[in-house]
Parts: sequence; structure tokens; C-alpha cells
Amino acid sequence: MITENRFQCHTYAFIVLNTVYDAKSSMTRRQQQQALNALRQHLSSFLTLLLSAMVMCSILLVGATSASAGMIRDAEIEAALEGLIAPLEEAAGYTRGTIKIRVILNNQYNAFVAGTHTVYVHSGLIKEADGVLEFLGVMAHEIGHIREGHVQRLDEAAADAGATATLATIAALAVAAGGSGDAAAGVLFGGTDQATRGYLATRRRDEAVADEIAMSLLEQTELSATGIRDQMQRMTRQRSLPESRQSIYYSTHPGSGERLQAFQDHVDQSEFSNRPAPPSAVHLYDRARTKVTAWTEAPQRILSSSSPLSDTAEFTVYARAIAHYRRGALDKALALMDQLLANHSDDAFFHEFRGDILFAKANPEAAADAYEASLSLRKHNPLVQLNLGRALIATGKDDNLPKAVMALEFARRGEPKWAFVHRTYGIALGKSGRLAEADLALADEALLIGDRGRAIQLAKRVLKSPDLEPLVHSRASDILFRYGADAAN
Ligand SMILES: [Zn+2]
Repeated sequence: MITENRFQCHTYAFIVLNTVYDAKSSMTRRQQQQALNALRQHLSSFLTLLLSAMVMCSILLVGATSASAGMIRDAEIEAALEGLIAPLEEAAGYTRGTIKIRVILNNQYNAFVAGTHTVYVHSGLIKEADGVLEFLGVMAHEIGHIREGHVQRLDEAAADAGATATLATIAALAVAAGGSGDAAAGVLFGGTDQATRGYLATRRRDEAVADEIAMSLLEQTELSATGIRDQMQRMTRQRSLPESRQSIYYSTHPGSGERLQAFQDHVDQSEFSNRPAPPSAVHLYDRARTKVTAWTEAPQRILSSSSPLSDTAEFTVYARAIAHYRRGALDKALALMDQLLANHSDDAFFHEFRGDILFAKANPEAAADAYEASLSLRKHNPLVQLNLGRALIATGKDDNLPKAVMALEFARRGEPKWAFVHRTYGIALGKSGRLAEADLALADEALLIGDRGRAIQLAKRVLKSPDLEPLVHSRASDILFRYGADAAN
């Protein structure tokens, strides 16, 4: 569906997954396991393969119909949100950067934890939350779940799916299980055969514990709990609504009445309750929210809106550039980014997006320059390294290949489970005449998409090459040793 040298980000790809299954929360463990296995099989071979061949840009939107789950992978948004929760994370006893935030493409307000250290946030929550204090309050609650290990077992369940597939698996399962995020993770992965009543009792207890931790984290970081208190108030009002009109967050976070009281008591006695959010946090949240909006709302709506999308003028311009880009109006998008960069030449993410536009305009040399400018400001961004590598390959100049290989080595280190990175790395090595290493990289790709036969074939070819470097030799031997027996059977 995509050729290697073309970037067509503005037509961002939605992957259609025909995985329709009935994952009600009343499933038995055996049914849960079957659903999980079926989905895992689909995702790890099929989705990863498609993802690998898929267009990329600074933002990656991966969608699925039916099970209706999609992820937004974007370095800027993830960095902003992870930066925001860093003080809470440290207060909870984790080193900065331990807890990851992943954004799920879904307009419903919801957040949940899965795996040991990941908070999944719906794009709808980011857009709807009444400011950064509410976002931070909800995050503090989710960090509480993480600290208490309320859904630890997910990692085991999804351990052998590739990284991208794992994320999509989680998202798909969460939504498929009646659209109940937090609960879905618990039901599907908590491995409980308990009756619903017992399950709900556990849930209520878990919610109360997570709230206690949340309040303590907010207090330690001198943040007001009024955001989450207000959110709880809104949720409590949903009690009187028919079930169909209650939000997912309401159904997955039981006991809102008692929870509201606990937060109200905390707000009444905390000395930080009247303190506004730090301006830097407000700014960072605004940026993340604006970008999420620009990528998830209809471009036409962004462009025709008469009111600014953000309180900060340049974020509104940024959103318009993204909307133009998504519609394929690349010159307009580029003009706006040039305008922004004239005043913000030190903004790594503006450079990154400018690179995406130039690449989409089939100008790989200029795109590579833009990516390099971005990387000079923010070195550890595997997605930009990957795009730099691709842009350099696309220039068709042999002189650029050593630099492309280097960039792709960085990308591979940052995203080791992304098959497409290995493939691109293999292409750069192959074009550089480093054929054995290229085969090895393609063998790694084959393993990640579940094609062991091809991996073995490639590993055998590697071992036939003369003068192999010890590392290449041992990695190829390792593949044969681990998977060769399977192929023989
Ligand atoms: Zn919760």
C-alpha cells in the first residue's frame, strides 16, 4: 500500500481490523483467553505487518474499526504529558520517565492503567478535561493504581506480542470489553473468575485506595485537588442518568458518591486548594491538547473555526498548519511552519513537523535538514531519527548512507520492537553494501512480524558470508538456535 520513498502523511492511514468479537465483562476466563489469543494472533502478525508498511510522520494514528481502538503515537504529545506527570511520578517513588503515557484515539472521557507502568488516556479526556489540574488529578489516581499493582498481570498476557501490537491489543481489548477502560484491563487481565458482585467490591476498594494515593501525591507536589473534585462532581451527577448516557469513566470508576466526599474533605483542608496550576504546566497542557485536537477533529472544522483553538497564538497557528497538512495543502502548511519557526527557531517539534511536510512534498534533502535541526535540539527522539534515516535514503545519494545507517541505529535502540525500523535499517545497510548485516536486520524484522521461516532463512544466509563480525555471527547463530528447531518440525 505504500512505497518506501513516498510519504503520504496527510492521508494518515487507518488500519481496518476485522476483529469483531464479543468481549463482555461476563466472559469466563477461558473465553477471555480465547479472545485474547485470537486478537493477539491477528495483531502480532497482521497489524504489525501493516504498521510496518504504513506511512509515518511525526504523529502516528492507528485505528481499528469494530473493536474500535486506535492509538496516537506522537513524541511531542507523549513528552508533554509525561513531563506533566513527572513530579507526581517522583512523589510516588518512581524515577522520572518510568511511567509512560499513551494516547488512545477515542472521544469518550476515560483513562486506565495496563501493564506495570503505563497510563492509557483517551484523546477525549485530554480535550474535555477542564484544565491541567483535572488532568493531573486523574493521572494521580491512575498512578495510584500503578503503585498498588492493580493490573500487573497484563504484561505477562501480552508479553510476546510486538510493542506496537501490544499497545493496540490493549486498546482493542479495553474498548471491546464493553468500552470500559479501567475495568476491561482488570476483567481481561486480572484473571478473575469472581462473580460480578465480588469484582465490583474489589473495584470499589481499589478506587478508594487509588484516590488516597492521588490525594497524597497532589499534596506532596503542592497541587490543588479541585480539578479532580470537580470532575468527580460531574460524574456523580451521572448517577441519575440512564446507563446509556453515563460516561465510560463513570461505569469504570464505581462509587463516585463516596469518592466525591473524600476529595471534598481533602480540598477543605489542603492549603493548596486555592492555588492555580503552575503556568508552565498550563502551557504544556495547552500545547498537548491543541495538538491532539488538531489531529483528531475534522481539518475543515479546525480551519473554519472563528475562535482560536488555544490561548497561545502560536499553538493555534500550529493547529492550522496540521489541518492544512492533513488535507494535503502542503504549501500552506509549510508557510505557517516557516512563520512559526521565524520566532521559535529553538522548537524541536516545529522543526520535526516542518520535516514531515517537506518529506511529503518529495523534498527529502530539505526534510533531512529539518530533522537534523530537530535532533540538534532534542537528541533522543527515535521517531525523528527514523524519519531522518528514511529521508537520507530517499535522497538517493551514496554519501548520505553512512549518516542514514547511524540515524537508524539510534532509532532501533529507541524502538527495538518496531519491525519497520529494522526493515528501514536493513535497507540502509543493503544500499551501503553491508549485506550480511542487512540480512540480519531483515531477520529481526521477520521475527517481529512472526515470520520465523524467513528469519531462519536469512540467518542461514548471514552465516554463509565470509569474514563475519563476531556480533553478527553470534546474533545469526542465536536466531537459528532459538527458532531453527521449530522450522525443522
Ligand atoms: Zn481507577
